[in-house]
Amino acid sequence: MTDAPLRLRLDTAALVANWRALDALSGAAACGAAIKADGYGLGAAGVAERLAGAGCRDFFVATWREAERLAGLGFDVAVLHGARAEDMAAAASGIARPVLNTATQIARWREGGGGRCDVMVDTGMNRLGVSIAEVEDGLLDGLAIDTLMSHLACADEDSAMNARQATALRELGGRTAARRMSLANSAGIALGADYAFDLTRPGLALYGGVPRGELAGVLHQVVTPEAQILQRRTLAAGESIGYNALFTATAATEVAILNIGYADGYWRGFSNAGCARVGDAALPVIGRVSMDLTAISVAAAPGLVEGDWVSLDYALPAAAAASGMSQYELLTGLGQRFARVWTA
Ligand SMILES: *Cc1c(COP(=O)(O)O)cnc(C)c1O
Repeated sequence: MTDAPLRLRLDTAALVANWRALDALSGAAACGAAIKADGYGLGAAGVAERLAGAGCRDFFVATWREAERLAGLGFDVAVLHGARAEDMAAAASGIARPVLNTATQIARWREGGGGRCDVMVDTGMNRLGVSIAEVEDGLLDGLAIDTLMSHLACADEDSAMNARQATALRELGGRTAARRMSLANSAGIALGADYAFDLTRPGLALYGGVPRGELAGVLHQVVTPEAQILQRRTLAAGESIGYNALFTATAATEVAILNIGYADGYWRGFSNAGCARVGDAALPVIGRVSMDLTAISVAAAPGLVEGDWVSLDYALPAAAAASGMSQYELLTGLGQRFARVWTA
């Protein structure tokens, strides 16, 4: 196949260092990895292979389609959205275990013969999960539960809800046959030992996202988009560029047009706000990001020519602030046109 004109540089050492740091912060608890949404856009198999090599044993995806793409690679995968009727054949094949969320899913699982499963209990987020009352009434009795888990609604904030959720989960200790309990996502790990239970489930922070200030010095950037220059031009003073003419040159401006746009997940919020880089030279985005193309000023590196490559600034907290997108969206939106290139 033809080489792509845009690529994601994915830093193995940074990914592994992030997991090791989160594992250390998890104390005695094991540290897993959320690799749903294709490993937050990086590529689930590539992420899982590298983290398994570092010692990670627990992987979480959202759907059975995602589990099927990992089947046969030897990872211990749990499917967060449980088991619909449509999923039972895949579940029976043993490629992963469901995280059961509702009384209906639990009945379906028992009818299908049961077997090892996880269960999500709702402790206040009111998204997925059985209620505490259902657990206390015996809904889970006799189930072969590996991990009884819950999910924090406000872990990235200093909210009283965090402690309430941890207490609610802790009070279920011993009420089921679960081998382990689990609560913390990335931000939850930073809340400390009371939130670690037996297993933590970071996603965002593995990939360099920083959900809480405590993690800022701890995590490394993993993902860097790079794009090739398709055309060089010079804007004369008074000329504008791009859709809706959102940038007008006040003096002659050297410009490069990059092969990247919002269809690649380089969102329109980067219009007049993002920045590319070659070496130490900062090359600001000018005008509106379009579907497949983005213009930058190359005043700081006028020697750039058609075919050269530039990196886009993608340190996630800063890129989120610049674009108005969440750090999660900046990862999971990364499109299929990138060549994904893992470096050591
Ligand atoms: C996505 C998800 C995680 C990981 O969350 P991050 O905020 O990305 O660390 C953990 N647990 C559940 C249930 C999830 O859905």
